[in-house]
Amino acid sequence: MGNSVTEPAAPRHDPDCLFCRIIAGEIPSERVHEDDRVIAFKDLHPQAPVHVLVVPRAHRRDVTELAEDPELLAHTAQVAADVAAEQADGEFRLIFNTGASAGQSVFHVHAHVLAGGKLAEGAL
Ligand code: IMP
Repeated sequence: MGNSVTEPAAPRHDPDCLFCRIIAGEIPSERVHEDDRVIAFKDLHPQAPVHVLVVPRAHRRDVTELAEDPELLAHTAQVAADVAAEQADGEFRLIFNTGASAGQSVFHVHAHVLAGGKLAEGAL
């Protein structure tokens, strides 16, 4: 037996996290997609005709942590594309605000999908 020290796994559910609570169903949301890895729901304060958040179920702080799991990052992007195809014409803006100075206010990674018409420059 070696004496290796392993890093603790990132918590999968944070009871103080708004999006973990939405995922758990403790806070209502208008879901447009869910599977075993992500959920997608309408943003409470839409910035475009279609404004959906795609949220990995596992609690990860931001897209840099999500990128440690390339398959989950790719799946998140694929769900974003599917949502844009279902809810609009398939063209969309995909935004991961990363860090408070970049506008991130919920520190559970989420992709903003903005679609449904000519989008304003600099939305979000
Ligand atoms: P951020 O500022 O990039 O972290 O994005 C957080 C987003 O979550 C904002 O666009 C908010 O409008 C949205 N938001 C906050 N609370 C809720 C909620 O309870 N349901 C849906 N969207 C929410």
